[in-house]
Amino acid sequence: MSPKIQLGLVGLGKIARDQHLPAISRTPGIELVAVASPHARAEGVRNYAEVGEMLAAEPHLDAVVMCQPPQPRFDAARQAIAAGKHVFLEKPPGATICAVEALISLADEKGLTLFASWHSRYAAAVAPARAWLAGRTLRRAAITWKEDVRRWHPGQTWIFDAGGFGVFDPGINALSILTEVVRDPIVLSAAELEVPSNRAAPIAAKLALKTVEGAPIEAVFDFRQTGLQTWNISIETNQGELLLSEGGDRLAIDGVAQDCGPEGEYPAMYRHFVDLVQHRRSDVDLAPLRLVADAFLSGRFRPTDPFEE
Ligand code: NAP
Repeated sequence: MSPKIQLGLVGLGKIARDQHLPAISRTPGIELVAVASPHARAEGVRNYAEVGEMLAAEPHLDAVVMCQPPQPRFDAARQAIAAGKHVFLEKPPGATICAVEALISLADEKGLTLFASWHSRYAAAVAPARAWLAGRTLRRAAITWKEDVRRWHPGQTWIFDAGGFGVFDPGINALSILTEVVRDPIVLSAAELEVPSNRAAPIAAKLALKTVEGAPIEAVFDFRQTGLQTWNISIETNQGELLLSEGGDRLAIDGVAQDCGPEGEYPAMYRHFVDLVQHRRSDVDLAPLRLVADAFLSGRFRPTDPFEE
């Protein structure tokens, strides 16, 4: 392997341009050399329309990062692992649990790194929140994750297709934080999913969750929020209350704002990925995906107004 990990990127869309490209360029030990995307082209690297074409033409690649929508993620990751590449998956790691479990086995067999990233876990206030909760007993928690899909996901029709997760596309970020800061296993008690009559995936959802000890956790996700946007998690314990806001960037304890330092989700994830590859380790936690899968498996589906962008 050359001194720097030679990286290919699949799916040059919003998150790849907004976060991955800048983070890669700031991370020592890794270098972007190729991109595979059906239409988009990146400057300064070799471009391909399709991942198979990139893998065939770039045998020296060490790793591939998957930034396409979840539906085509498995086939691309499977091809990359078969070609001997380490793989970095954007969230969600796949459209189904079986697909991600298959990737874990394939990567293990080849001794390759598989990193299922959950970027919200790297938000500035998440590690301090986890530390504060250690040793405290959770009494109840609530997630309020409400955003305007037209503002944050313009043109992303895949979100409302089957396998696109709908409102769980952002909602799974909240669940990734919850399952990081709360150490007890969390189970789903009930779910209600509102699906636009002309779409396949929910535009809003309510989950009733609980810890194995029985502490209740309510989650409300809504893609129809105009005006104030809300990405909050509140947690009440036997020794005080915590509020994570702005998607995990801000923390207040008993109403007092805490200084958690600057944001830096994607640079931190790339540093972690370089370390994983150097030590030939994988990092895949399916807990957030399982909760979403269980909501689809056992939830009550309610048709609602058609959605037009
Ligand atoms: P996006 O803007 O729609 O970009 C996805 C890109 O994937 C498209 O531009 C398209 O490229 C490419 N693509 C589509 N089908 C493909 C295929 N079969 N093979 C290879 N590339 C394909 O979506 P996004 O917001 O970047 O989201 C992508 C993933 O990142 C999702 O899993 C999402 O949950 C995650 N994510 C998004 C955000 C966010 O804020 N947007 C934040 C964190 C994580 P062409 O333009 O070339 O056709």
